[in-house]
Amino acid sequence: MTIFKALTIAGSDSGGGAGIQADLKTFQMLDVYGMSAITAITAQNTLGVHGIYDIPLEGIEKQIDAVLSDLGADAAKTGMLSQPEIIELVAGCIRKHGLKRLVVDPVMVAKGGASLLAGNAQNALREKLLPLAALVTPNIPEAEVITGLSITTIEDMKEAAQRIVREFGAGAAIVKGGHRSGEPTDVLYDGEAFHLLTAERYETRHTHGTGCTFSAAICAELAKGKTLLEAAHTAKQFITLAIRHTLGIGAGHGPTNHWA
Ligand code: PLP
Repeated sequence: MTIFKALTIAGSDSGGGAGIQADLKTFQMLDVYGMSAITAITAQNTLGVHGIYDIPLEGIEKQIDAVLSDLGADAAKTGMLSQPEIIELVAGCIRKHGLKRLVVDPVMVAKGGASLLAGNAQNALREKLLPLAALVTPNIPEAEVITGLSITTIEDMKEAAQRIVREFGAGAAIVKGGHRSGEPTDVLYDGEAFHLLTAERYETRHTHGTGCTFSAAICAELAKGKTLLEAAHTAKQFITLAIRHTLGIGAGHGPTNHWA
């Protein structure tokens, strides 16, 4: 039996709905062996983020080196990297280990409003990390910060995805449409063509961790050797079901359902 392996380099969500916890649950559900390098610990529940504790740079580097020098990874993803120094360090590790199938989820703000990316970290994200990404997965507000565009239409989403590839050197970009009203259509630009991914919208406040789960699902599929387009379609299905069957736990924005 071939074991496919994926590494997430991201923050911990003590509430289990987002971050490392969402990534590992997603990897498991998609039959991929999951490994983690934790960049920050958040004290968090469905009501919000109550504390953020960055892991020292040396500790982040040692986790990545330990995993990749022994187990190896067929694909990797990054999530919360809150400081420019952390982004630079992680980018250096990715280059050093020659990780190719890298999904970058440019995490900036939690649904409750807490900032997960320092204001002075945006340049490091653009300049150091995006050029290493096989795929970048911003939502609309994140795509606006990265590109400086104001995004309202599908055409705007296309332009943003194309810019992330052409200007910042990512292999591909998928701009997620969940923040627009109507059907949540995502726009994928793979360097050659645009692909639209659509789904039905389900109204629920329990969408905590959707971005983490979606990018982890793509990472898992890439680890199995799937094409970018196949991986994106599987991830879209996975996250749509996870939202549709949310668990409804917690008094605030609850987690999606990774078992769905
Ligand atoms: N907490 C951590 C550690 C995360 O990595 C993320 C991911 O984006 C979030 C919280 C935000 O989750 P959400 O915006 O879905 O609430």
